[in-house]
Order: sequence, then structure tokens, then C-alpha cells
Amino acid sequence: MFNLILFGPPGSGKGTQSDKLVAQYGLIHLSTGNLLREEIANQTALGLEAKKLMDNGQLVPDAVVVGMIGSALKANPQAKGFLFDGFPRTVAQAEALDNLLSEVGEEISIVLALEVNEEELVKRMLLRGQSSGRPDDKDENVIRARFVEYQNKTAPVAGHYEQSGKVKHVKGEGSIDDIFRSLVREIEAKQSV
Ligand code: ADP
Repeated sequence: MFNLILFGPPGSGKGTQSDKLVAQYGLIHLSTGNLLREEIANQTALGLEAKKLMDNGQLVPDAVVVGMIGSALKANPQAKGFLFDGFPRTVAQAEALDNLLSEVGEEISIVLALEVNEEELVKRMLLRGQSSGRPDDKDENVIRARFVEYQNKTAPVAGHYEQSGKVKHVKGEGSIDDIFRSLVREIEAKQSV
């Protein structure tokens, strides 16, 4: 299997690039943000709890997202690989993911980390908020709160994978196609090893 983590702050383009990467490599796209928004749309108990946190820019509990990812992995035993988008977002989630994968003899192949400066991120998210219907993209205070969560809890996830040399940093500014080409270059370099 080829298991890829697309890493980066909110608004760095993970969703956009994920769509292109799964189309190119036939991976299964697992976005915890999308899975949570489905729960909200279906008005499940989990979704209603998660919504309160998401609307404030806070992370939902590790156990919730780890449970969702565990089910998705079990539901797709024949997958060529997975693209994890917006997950893991804490070191505890990264450890849980490593364990889930090692139970089936798999591991993370590569972590692609998109880098975009914060002012550009805020601009992109406010723009997205005008059309996406996502309440967490409409309010600059909520956007800033998501960055604080990212700095405190999510940025250390890169360190978790850095030790094994799996993290590749990619500039996430420029055209969508140029960024995609940079991501593909890193994947091809890894696959030819
Ligand atoms: P973005 O990366 O643009 O903030 P996402 O769709 O990935 O958007 O996430 C939206 C919100 O969903 C997050 O702010 C958080 O509240 C929640 N969320 C998504 N993934 C996770 C996760 N792995 N752990 C905890 N909370 C998560």
C-alpha cells in the first residue's frame, strides 16, 4: 500500500490537492473534516457534539476521529493505499494511526507538508467562507483560533514523522497545478527508492 499524509495548516490547500492526488494514484481519500461534516449533515449525536467544537475552531476529541479512521481502514481492506487529509492532527492521533496501520502490516509511506504563510491562509479561508457554507470559514476570530490549535497541537505531528525521514516540505503557494506537480515529484522520488 502507499499511505500518504497530506499535512499543513487550515487553508493550505489539502482538500484541493487531495482530490487531484487520489485521482492520479487511485488512493482512498480519508478527510476527517469531511467525515465530521457528514455527521453534522446527518444530525447524528456525534455530529452535534463535534459541531460545537468545530464552530469554535477547536479540535474534536482524538477518540472520535481515531474511531472514524479505524472504521474506514477496516472497510477498505483491498485499497491500494490511503490519503489522510486533516488527520492526524495531534501526536496522539499519529501514534494511534501508526498502530492501526501496523496491525495490518502497513505504515505511512510519506508525509507531504504544504507550506503557506499565515496572511495568505486567512485570505483564502475568508474567500472560501463566502461560498462554502462552512461557518468556521466566515469569522476571522474562528480562523485565528484554528491556527492556535494548529500551532499547539498539530505542528508537532511533523516532528513525529520527521525522525523517520518521511516528511517532505512543499511550497503551497502558486498555481494549483504547480503545487500539484511539486507533490507528484516528491511521490515519484519516494516510489522509485
Ligand atoms: P481545515 O483544515 O481547513 O481547518 P478541516 O475540514 O480539515 O478544515 O477541519 C475542520 C474542523 O474539523 C477542524 O477545525 C476541527 O474542529 C475538526 N477536525 C477535522 N479533523 C480533525 C482531527 N483529525 N482531529 C480533531 N478535529 C478535527
